[in-house]
Amino acid sequence: MIEIKNVNKVFYQAGREIKALDDINLSIAEGSIYGVIGSSGAGKSTLIRCVNLLERPTKGRIFVDGIELNSLSANELTLARRKIGMIFQHFNLLSSRTVFNNVGLPLELAGVSKQEIKEKVESLLELVGLSDKKDSYPANLSGGQKQRVAIARALASDPKVLLCDEATSALDPATTHSILELLRKINREFNLTILLITHEMAVVKSICSDVAIIGGGKLVEQGPVGDIFAHP
Ligand code: ADP
Ligand code: ADP
Repeated sequence: MIEIKNVNKVFYQAGREIKALDDINLSIAEGSIYGVIGSSGAGKSTLIRCVNLLERPTKGRIFVDGIELNSLSANELTLARRKIGMIFQHFNLLSSRTVFNNVGLPLELAGVSKQEIKEKVESLLELVGLSDKKDSYPANLSGGQKQRVAIARALASDPKVLLCDEATSALDPATTHSILELLRKINREFNLTILLITHEMAVVKSICSDVAIIGGGKLVEQGPVGDIFAHP
């Protein structure tokens, strides 16, 4: 579902060259929950931002659902983005919009009819267990509820892939557990491929089928979680 081939990303800062990604190769199968783990500065955010078209690789190619991202025109890019949902550590909800209107925003932007938006948003809110909060504002929600709204919004355009950038790092352990359970349910129900980045080993062990370890922009190791973290 996601192919990352020989990807390099170089930043220039104060005349210095920073190799944020150094020849990364990953192959992420459809329907998997794939974790990328590494310490701060390892290159995790840069990697996920390249997949989400927020950054362009300096070198290399990325394919999502068979489409090479670098080769797209502006119009094709808009369509390709709809295949990719993303959630963040700090949720990135719009504070002036209700839960309903946060979740419906991607559909509004895509020109979907009001009736269809209503049906879709209501079914998404049911999926994430927040039907009773549709008229609330983000400021009146807990962290876990905010992340549920963000997940519903990310699913609004029926993406093939969900990218999670430290999605549970701002949450307490019990809430983290419930959000990971929700991700697992979505993965199963929709065969949605999930790529998540985290600095927390427990997150990877709890839901990932496969893992890549990165450090200093380089791929250190990758494989099924059971193989990489096997205990003697
Ligand atoms: P992680 O998400 O694993 O903490 P990042 O991908 O954020 O790592 O960063 C990898 C490296 O790239 C770090 O050395 C960081 O300082 C650098 N970096 C990331 N984004 C930029 C940028 N926009 N400009 C300059 N350097 C950057
Ligand atoms: P805005 O003021 O941001 O334009 P509106 O309140 O006009 O948003 O809502 C936009 C659409 O979403 C309307 O069709 C409205 O009926 C629908 N809508 C908004 N909130 C809800 C809700 N809680 N339940 C069902 N439909 C809603």
